[in-house]
Amino acid sequence: MNPFFRVETIVSDFLIIGGGIMGMLSSYALAKKGFSIRLVESQRCGQQASWAGGGIVSPLSPWDYADSITNLTKLSQQLYPSLIEQLMSETGIDSQLYQTGLISLFGDVDERSSVNEVPARVQAWAAQHSVDLKLISSDIIETLQPGLNHRATGGIWMPQVCNVRNPRLLKALKQAISQQPLICVEENTSITEFLIEGQRVSGAASQTQRFHAEKTLITSGAWSQQLLSNVGSETPIWPIRGQMLLYKPAAPLLQRIVLSGNRYLIPRRDGHILVGSTLENVGFDNSTTEQAYTELRGYAESILPALADFPVVQQWAGLRPASPAGIPKIGAIAGYDNFYINAGHFRNGLVLAPSSVQLVVEQMLGETPSLDCGPYQL
Ligand SMILES: Cc1cc2nc3c(=O)[nH]c(=O)nc-3n(C[C@H](O)[C@H](O)[C@H](O)COP(=O)(O)OP(=O)(O)OC[C@H]3O[C@@H](n4cnc5c(N)ncnc54)[C@H](O)[C@@H]3O)c2cc1C
Repeated sequence: MNPFFRVETIVSDFLIIGGGIMGMLSSYALAKKGFSIRLVESQRCGQQASWAGGGIVSPLSPWDYADSITNLTKLSQQLYPSLIEQLMSETGIDSQLYQTGLISLFGDVDERSSVNEVPARVQAWAAQHSVDLKLISSDIIETLQPGLNHRATGGIWMPQVCNVRNPRLLKALKQAISQQPLICVEENTSITEFLIEGQRVSGAASQTQRFHAEKTLITSGAWSQQLLSNVGSETPIWPIRGQMLLYKPAAPLLQRIVLSGNRYLIPRRDGHILVGSTLENVGFDNSTTEQAYTELRGYAESILPALADFPVVQQWAGLRPASPAGIPKIGAIAGYDNFYINAGHFRNGLVLAPSSVQLVVEQMLGETPSLDCGPYQL
């Protein structure tokens, strides 16, 4: 036996593997209900995709997604304000939920024929789901967000859309869970195998430690499939790298989230502007590249020319947990009585976190789920 192997004798109610937004928020929610939690994170909590994201509290083009994503989105958007308020009152950290609205520019004039087909579908989607959404002319775009340079004939305006300052949200969550005596966090500890007893998972192990729990939850983002393959479960979840840039103009230049094609600008309350993002299938490589820097900078300064007077202050990359159609897996892992997953949120894990966590907690506790769980089953 490895002489450095520490055998854990404490059995917690829940073992949670992965300390991103899903893992920390699940720990927080379960502790509020009186359960003990062991949260194990291979690096430091809140440093991977959940930190790297833009924090838009909506899918970019929500009408392009299945109803299962829309339903999770709507529930999360209801839950977000009270979550931010509660964390603020417990930690003093303001995660800055900022209602800027989102302008989605139609394509360039050259693409008009294909773009003209979009509005009817978008309007039907908005009516079906009672989403506040308007088609707007280029004059209205200029009124809502002066200073844009584009050739769009118009766009779509969603006034209710917010963004959250996700690094602060993670900091607040990390502080809240560290204040909570029912939660024990193990950082720099990578789970490598599960402890299986027939149909039950009695816990999991790293190279040097074993953790026992009544129920185990995988919240390991892009790494979830690697873990699941240990128990012979094949779930398509894979990493898609996204890179972003940050500007800090001397004066506020942007009041709205602006989306054009697959790229976007996000304003923070203090005037910072984020530019995103790339979609790169490069495996578990989260380094940044010159090429992405050039492309994102070119995009940002062509659409908001005033940005050209200011330097880029930061560039970073993160690994999104991609999944087919971006539909996350939320619920029990087939073949086991006490083994669960909440992962695969692809481009929408920040918006979907409060509702996904609520749904997985309800299932783990045998409560009536807030939404039909069918679409998210493994
Ligand atoms: C550039 C970019 C922009 C984005 N923009 C948005 C946006 O505007 N809005 C939005 O809603 N979403 C956005 N997203 C998506 C969102 O960030 C993710 O979907 C979400 O953060 C996933 O959260 P998670 O907790 O599942 O994963 P993560 O935050 O990646 O956390 C998983 C954790 O598990 C840990 N882990 C992995 N393996 C193990 C192991 N074996 N043992 C222990 N721990 C392990 C990892 O170290 C990591 O900390 C964006 C993502 C990127 C990269």
